[in-house]
Amino acid sequence: MARRNFKSPLVMRRRILDWYDRHRRILPWRVPPGQTADPYHVWLSEIMLQQTTVATVGPYFNDFCERWPSVEHLAAADLDEILHGWQGLGYYARARNMHRCAKIVSAELNGYFPDNEGELRKLPGIGDYTAAAISAIAFGKPANVVDGNVERVIARFYAVEEPLPQSKSNLRALSAKITPETAHGRPGDFAQAVMDLGATICTPRSPKCSICPWQPGCAAFKENIQNALPYRQTRAKKPTRRGVVFWVMHGDGSILLGRRPDKGLLAGMVEVPSTAWLEKEWTVASAKKVAPIKSCWEKLPGIVRHTFTHFHLELWILQTRVSDKENLKNAIWVTPDRLNEYALPTIMKKIIDLALKAV
Ligand code: SF4
Repeated sequence: MARRNFKSPLVMRRRILDWYDRHRRILPWRVPPGQTADPYHVWLSEIMLQQTTVATVGPYFNDFCERWPSVEHLAAADLDEILHGWQGLGYYARARNMHRCAKIVSAELNGYFPDNEGELRKLPGIGDYTAAAISAIAFGKPANVVDGNVERVIARFYAVEEPLPQSKSNLRALSAKITPETAHGRPGDFAQAVMDLGATICTPRSPKCSICPWQPGCAAFKENIQNALPYRQTRAKKPTRRGVVFWVMHGDGSILLGRRPDKGLLAGMVEVPSTAWLEKEWTVASAKKVAPIKSCWEKLPGIVRHTFTHFHLELWILQTRVSDKENLKNAIWVTPDRLNEYALPTIMKKIIDLALKAV
């Protein structure tokens, strides 16, 4: 009897689809195998899943679908309401792009998402991965869907020893080799099957090779190097930036907030005003020079620490009291009991917690 080639794309696809049919994760945005999902649901979940775990996204996805059941509803929603609903998912630029995208799909595309990767990529917030995922899962089109999970599985299956990120294009090419070439090959289920394999079996630590459908062909398993792969180039240490926050209280109990610029980190979000965040130490004197108002400032005890993708941040606080609500550009005066009406990034919540305790 001829030996079966477990590295053949055909055999790999069949084995992983069989496994998916029996062991797939049940997720709120998914439909049963063989069916194509609602593009709005696929798009919404994929945007939420960028940089966030499946467990976190579930309740947000359900909440958004209940409040805004279609792309038209989301397009018509107030951005501040969306940002408020997004609190806890982080990276607010995604929510802003999501709203822009919903408006374009609703107003210019009659509420229909494009079914191909090229047109999808033209929409705000949709990059290569998301376009491929929507095209495959929502429209059943063959598409090479490669995220970090898939890269890990592929690097192990083919025992790719070149480190990430240099190996990315090689891993993409290897993934393309096994991706279904026609709609008949269930491209959407295949993409979700590889995602599930990476999330539940071929996990970053201690992969469960004994129950993996691809184990018979897996080169890393054969060489017993699955725990070491994929190799990664050592990352440069994150720098630490520092800044000073201006905590301004009015006699009526309200606090001065502002809005961040429309571009850059935490774009358009509500903030407690601060100096720029730089890799230098601030002094009280240097911070006062850029304070939003001239006043008598007092340093509060404590430091707020936060880590963003590319840097650590340390902030300390200067506080003052004012009797006039000065004519400040973009000033928002809010009493502490109404702070929960605003979409506040985690760093701002930390600042507010420390300041309220300290004063
Ligand atoms: Fe990953 Fe192990 Fe499966 Fe290979 S056999 S793909 S290392 S889980």
